[in-house]
Amino acid sequence: MRKVLVLGLVLALPAVMNAGRLIRIPMNTDSDFTLVRDMGYEVTAGSRSAGWVDVMVNQRFVDETLARYPEAKLLPLEWSELLPETDNGEMGYYYGPNDNALFWAELAETNDMVDTPTSYGTSFQGRDLNFVRITNAPAGSPAILFTALTHAREPGGNSVLIDWAQWLTTEYDSDTMATFILNNAQIYIIPIVNPDSYVYNSPSGGNQRKNMNYTVPVASSGIDLNRNYSYQWGYDDSGSSPNPYSETYRGEFALSEVETLAETQWIDSIQPLGGFHYHTYGGKLLYPYGYNNSPTPHQSTFQSWASQMTELNGYEYGRCGEILYDVNGDAVDWSYGASTHSPMLFYTPEVDDYGFWGSQNDTTLIVTNNLECRYMNKLLCMNLLSMAGIGEETSAQFDGAAFGITLQSNPVSAVLGYTVTGASSASVSILDVAGRVVATPSEGSWVIPENLQSGVYFLRAESGSHSTTELFTVLR
Ligand SMILES: [Zn+2]
Repeated sequence: MRKVLVLGLVLALPAVMNAGRLIRIPMNTDSDFTLVRDMGYEVTAGSRSAGWVDVMVNQRFVDETLARYPEAKLLPLEWSELLPETDNGEMGYYYGPNDNALFWAELAETNDMVDTPTSYGTSFQGRDLNFVRITNAPAGSPAILFTALTHAREPGGNSVLIDWAQWLTTEYDSDTMATFILNNAQIYIIPIVNPDSYVYNSPSGGNQRKNMNYTVPVASSGIDLNRNYSYQWGYDDSGSSPNPYSETYRGEFALSEVETLAETQWIDSIQPLGGFHYHTYGGKLLYPYGYNNSPTPHQSTFQSWASQMTELNGYEYGRCGEILYDVNGDAVDWSYGASTHSPMLFYTPEVDDYGFWGSQNDTTLIVTNNLECRYMNKLLCMNLLSMAGIGEETSAQFDGAAFGITLQSNPVSAVLGYTVTGASSASVSILDVAGRVVATPSEGSWVIPENLQSGVYFLRAESGSHSTTELFTVLR
């Protein structure tokens, strides 16, 4: 992955803010997990089925925690230890706030399909909340949205979106899926949902997760934006706290924060089909409902897409409550349940970083995470477009309008339809690249059979002495 180098940013190392360590505690039973939670630890990741939970522990309590859980181990990565070893920019191999500004401005400048970052609101401390749009589709085409850094100590999600934007724009016109996606969808990206805290966490590193609104109701340490969305806000205290000092403090009321309010109003205005709200870490793919662990009416879609999207990376998927514990007031529940139009199919990927800053000076890990998530991004877009009935359309017409054909195909969804008009007799066949007939679809909407492997095919239509051939691609 290309890295924007920011020269002149070799900074002195101030005292580490929010000094804390991650400790991984094995769990054999659900009651082990309950005990850990009841001790008041801040759980940062984990899986009941895999039998582990990570907690963030203040430096002062590290020894005590390790003594309490003899099987536990200290995760070796800590920002303050790593920073002096790296000179790759603001945040090592992650893109810091200034790196992001440079990257997105340059991408827009050098590519007609990328809009200049545009503000949809203002953060608590007065920073622009920006989105970027990438598309070559006609106006009014469906929107798909990707966000990152709602939690400011999770830069791995931002890396994935930088890689994604770079891949889409670089591969347009040569990669089938990149071309299809940008020809048919408006891809929206919010690289940094919570910019105040991301700036706070840089350059010396930090573990600020919430926003920087320290004012209400007491001089606390911010509000957890991913507990502040309005659908079933404050449903209960599972994974969402009324205590201002908690890392999961949900705020005084739903959408109390300018960051969530501006974002949800803007999302309602673009009405995306769905997307990913990126977080880290742990290698998970979560879908709603989070607040009470009940399935949504789209459960089978969420599940089958998740199964397909995680084939490459092996992420554990399911509802939050199935994997670890219920949460309320998060962005995927809002996206699905509370938007003012039809439900948006959003997931929360938890990128498989090693702790929050695990890829800071590990190019192998960051590139692996980006590639694994790029695959999910591609499939999600293709599935959403397929669900919306969007395909490439080509048409042909013979002399005298004796015979017209329309080919509608979406490479991944494997839906192809054709209609014949104005011909007394016509036949249509599907041929492989060797010219062998592999299928003879009947008129109307036709689903490409399961046994048709990925590859390039031809659709040939014949009527009397006339014929026409159209090329299409199948991707499994
Ligand atoms: Zn998060």
